Amino acid sequence: MTPGVGQALRPHFPAFAHQPPPFHYLDNAATAQICAPAAEALLRFETRTRANVKRGVHRLADAATTAFEGVRADLARYLGVADPDEVVLTTGTTAGLNIAANGLRHRLGPGDEVLVTELEHHSDLVPWHLAAEATGATVRAIPVGEDGRLDLDRLGRVLNDRTRIVTVAHVSNVTGTVTDLPRLAAATHAVGAVLVVDGAQGAPHGPLDLPTLGCDLYALSGHKMFGPTGSGALWGQMDLLAEMPPFMGGGEMIRRVTIEGSTFAPPPHRFEAGTPAIGPLIGMGAAARFLMTLDWNALRRHEARLTGRVLEGLAGIEGIRVFGPPAAPDRVGVVTFTVDGLHAHDVCQILDAERGVALRGGHHCAQPLMGRFGLVASARASLAPYSDDDDVDALIEGLDDAIRRFR
Ligand code: PLP
Repeated sequence: MTPGVGQALRPHFPAFAHQPPPFHYLDNAATAQICAPAAEALLRFETRTRANVKRGVHRLADAATTAFEGVRADLARYLGVADPDEVVLTTGTTAGLNIAANGLRHRLGPGDEVLVTELEHHSDLVPWHLAAEATGATVRAIPVGEDGRLDLDRLGRVLNDRTRIVTVAHVSNVTGTVTDLPRLAAATHAVGAVLVVDGAQGAPHGPLDLPTLGCDLYALSGHKMFGPTGSGALWGQMDLLAEMPPFMGGGEMIRRVTIEGSTFAPPPHRFEAGTPAIGPLIGMGAAARFLMTLDWNALRRHEARLTGRVLEGLAGIEGIRVFGPPAAPDRVGVVTFTVDGLHAHDVCQILDAERGVALRGGHHCAQPLMGRFGLVASARASLAPYSDDDDVDALIEGLDDAIRRFR
């Protein structure tokens, strides 16, 4: 892909018109910039058709509900699944994973095992710790190899007939590695367990075909896929969603309520207690529609080329250590590194102040993985479709310059 692909997309992302240069936003794995269709849909809802959903009978309520329910259809198309009712609308990946971990508790008991991985985000660890604590189950982990990939060759040592749930990141927010979900799904299902996927970093890389990936539940965040903050989704096979109890109780998730007790609506409404984040979710639907208009073959080539440039540039600077595999089809443009003699937060501050490069520094909510590599903090650059050579140049030149001065 020729340079400029990312720059050509920038007019669709309002941040680029509002931030003074230099502006090199490489913190996309934390939160990506909103695309114009999502921002416009959010504003349109809040200013023109704002009303509550699922409950009113007046004109505005009707329009809001139609737009809201349309989001399920948009997300179903984006995820490659047929039934919009399998899409639960949430506030983000964390909410989706908590719904999953709570909803699957009844499958766990003393001696049962939940299999996580060493590279999980805390959002895909803590909900399972809570579930394990409540049920007496044990949490085990698939190890990560030196190259930052899951060591699926050692899967047989940790997956067994006590495993009830396997839960894994589609893409690591630290090493950028892409999990071989079909292989993991086959192994998971062979022992009768279910596969839950944290799709926070997988969903932003283009439309998916979940049936071919083989997972049973898939959680994502709207703000990482160019939609508003406060939006997200949990896709689940209907049979599985139907056996899951709700996570939160309240309005619009019930079938019938008496003083003594309540029964619940079928999925997806059972998991959507109270007034949802209507505007952000409508924005997320618009973002999904926008993403489906892009040429993802070209964008993936573009991202792979830029990722290669980042890795190559970092490798050329003495004192930088990169975590994760070299440029490869099974890794995306999320690159984590340390700089000898400089704390990750200092690296981020210097790059921001001197070059306008936005990075992330810290433990990336992945303390077990940091521990695996003997780190407490690292810096991270993460790309998006609007990233381009100017961003990579600013990152590499800025780091090179800073390291020379501090050495
Ligand atoms: N999982 C992964 C891999 C992430 O990178 C993140 C956010 O950075 C999350 C889960 C949590 O996402 P959210 O804060 O949108 O719920």
